[in-house]
Amino acid sequence: MRDLIVAGNWKMNGSQQFVGEMLLALNKASFSEPVNAVVFPPSVYLHEAIQQAKAVKVGAQNLFYEKSGAFTGELSASMISDVGCEYVILGHSERRAIFGEDDLLVAKKVVAALENHITPILCVGETLEDRDGGKYADVIATQVKVGLSLLSTEQTSNVVIAYEPVWAIGTGQTASPLQAQEVHELIRNLVAELAGIEVSHNMSILYGGSVNAANAQELFSQPDIDGGLVGGASLKVDEFLAICSAA
Ligand code: PGA
Repeated sequence: MRDLIVAGNWKMNGSQQFVGEMLLALNKASFSEPVNAVVFPPSVYLHEAIQQAKAVKVGAQNLFYEKSGAFTGELSASMISDVGCEYVILGHSERRAIFGEDDLLVAKKVVAALENHITPILCVGETLEDRDGGKYADVIATQVKVGLSLLSTEQTSNVVIAYEPVWAIGTGQTASPLQAQEVHELIRNLVAELAGIEVSHNMSILYGGSVNAANAQELFSQPDIDGGLVGGASLKVDEFLAICSAA
């Protein structure tokens, strides 16, 4: 059975007070067994979030692939592992669009995460232009192929993929369950070609893009959707918990 994961991407939001209040509330919640709830605070708050978190896991929103050195402003995989992160989000569309990250850079980050025993959540997804132009399957296939290209089969088996159509992120316009399922199946088939049936069968593939308490259940009930990567709705504790229950 695949891991069900509900990942709360807080992006560049919050404060010490917010982190304290969220963790306090999440610590009181109970999560049903196969569901892994993970929150991703801004990196400056990772240490305190990890100190406080009991019922949820904590991950980082990014890392840089070099081990150490003159890379002002960056965090290495060993640093985020050192403070206790179990997951990292890599190749988020905001990193790709605003910070110019390309598929090969993301692939190197995926390697660095795995070498430090951190589970990478590799994000892929097409723009509205790609979808309207009928190119979405090719775009996503390239992102997945290059993103996994530096890995052994064994390493690939420790990756989580998140399908996040760019047009659905922060817009309130979710992909329909059928649209999402179509892409998740495509990704799973591609992983089977790259790393074998067993790896693809066991891989958790998350959906992200305007997931909320009202639409989570229908999305997560699709056969190839194994939870969600949640942005805006993860900042409200009741809504995040409702999404975890839906998983
Ligand atoms: P959203 O963001 O849920 O606010 O659409 C999802 C994400 O960017 O991971």
